[in-house]
Amino acid sequence: MERVDRRGKYLLAVLDDDRALVVHLGMTGQLRLRPDQLDPHVRAWWALDDGHVLELRDVRRFGRVGVVPLGDYASLPTLAAQGPEPWDPVLDDGGLWRRLRPSRVRVKTQLLSQRPLAGVGNIYADEALWRAGVHPARRQVTRGQADRLLDELRAVLQQGIDNGGTTLRDYRAPDGEPGRNQVALVCYGRGGEPCLRCGAPLRRVLVDGRGTTLCPSCQPSR
Ligand SMILES: [Zn+2]
Repeated sequence: MERVDRRGKYLLAVLDDDRALVVHLGMTGQLRLRPDQLDPHVRAWWALDDGHVLELRDVRRFGRVGVVPLGDYASLPTLAAQGPEPWDPVLDDGGLWRRLRPSRVRVKTQLLSQRPLAGVGNIYADEALWRAGVHPARRQVTRGQADRLLDELRAVLQQGIDNGGTTLRDYRAPDGEPGRNQVALVCYGRGGEPCLRCGAPLRRVLVDGRGTTLCPSCQPSR
């Protein structure tokens, strides 16, 4: 293993034979160096050159592991179709808007598809849409809304990184520590509680089948 890269929510361990080990942690996956005690939830492990053992622990088994030729992700369609990284300048100056505009798919569903940009999951989508005042079920957004949404996506992702991730139940950093971002969430998981901006009760709805929290007053549907 030469280095570890990342694209969206995929980890790419570059091997010394022009292949890449691709790992998606899914809901509950965790990569860690093997501790002393055995664990029944370890699904895969790799002996490293330095004598350590790297293991994938995954209670609910939504994680995915594959080995592909470096840069050839045809066998992993979601990875192959990933949009740019959130801080890619191609998204600036209306770039996100131009990527969202051709589709009539609801804006949150587009974000979760990873196609407009990579790396946004359910928590960060709800947070950014609330902060930007954009209704998650909209099928078209204005240029101004898309610009604001990009700013807020970058802000909530940066905050999550700074806080070491969001641990609602399972997420652990490689050192075993839980993240601290869960206490910083302003919308996700607060259905029924007052909106921190206007005081109206936040509502929990389904958007294309995904649980979604929104403020009906700050995020008008039209
Ligand atoms: Zn509100």
